[in-house]
Amino acid sequence: MSGDPRGGNGAAGNASATWRATVLTLYPEMFPGPLAGALAGRALENRIWSLEFLDIRDHAHDKHGSVDDQPFGGGPGMVMRPDVLAAAIDAAVAGGSAAPVIYLTPRGVPLSQSRVREIAAGEGATFICGRFEGVDERVLESRGIEEMSIGDYVLSGGEIAALAVIDACVRVLPEVVGAAESLDEESFENGLLEYPHYTRPRSFEGKDVPAVLLSGDHERIRSWRRAEAEKTTRERRADLWAGMHLRSANTRAKP
Ligand code: SAM
Repeated sequence: MSGDPRGGNGAAGNASATWRATVLTLYPEMFPGPLAGALAGRALENRIWSLEFLDIRDHAHDKHGSVDDQPFGGGPGMVMRPDVLAAAIDAAVAGGSAAPVIYLTPRGVPLSQSRVREIAAGEGATFICGRFEGVDERVLESRGIEEMSIGDYVLSGGEIAALAVIDACVRVLPEVVGAAESLDEESFENGLLEYPHYTRPRSFEGKDVPAVLLSGDHERIRSWRRAEAEKTTRERRADLWAGMHLRSANTRAKP
């Protein structure tokens, strides 16, 4: 790993790595943060991906390093200035790239596993971490920025959202997860939540592992897991369950 995460702009991993995450933030010290550990951290060390973090404040125009101002029309809080953010974005994407520029915001399209797969299949992405009440709308329009939400709740800044999205992308990069086939049956990969898991001991606080999992009959285990995945999805996520039925109806309707 190179660069100094404490000193403002920095980098971790190798810039020529296959997949590259660039983060624009007012808090560069929050990176790589948890991405330096475990699976993502090992992949960073192994140069399967790289991380660059840029301090938006470096693009402020005045001696105070102002990045925000009061909202036109009144109301609480502050808004990130479009001129400062545009300068930071332009510096980050200088040289040209087909990689998406993504603003993390509760107003964005909710992130899905299929979008994670698409982003991971590309060359990388640039992530803009908002603060305050958010950013001036005009910079989002003028730079053609994708707006992405990580859920229906409000965080105090986009950094934790960016970390979550990067983590989700990195773990589906080739060679990051040891047994790649373990990803195929994960939640959301086939429109279902995953089946429940069990390990030793066989009996825990009076609860036994379902007998079918000890049977050694792979076909029975496969269909039990499928049935459990369907039951859990039906009970917990009516939206996913409805989407699955819609997809299979569409597939059947195709000539
Ligand atoms: N006023 C904004 C609203 O009501 O939509 C919330 C601003 S929030 C306090 C500050 C920043 O946190 C946002 O600009 C965004 O970058 C980030 N953020 C908060 N919640 C998020 C979420 N659910 N998904 C992605 N980013 C989020």
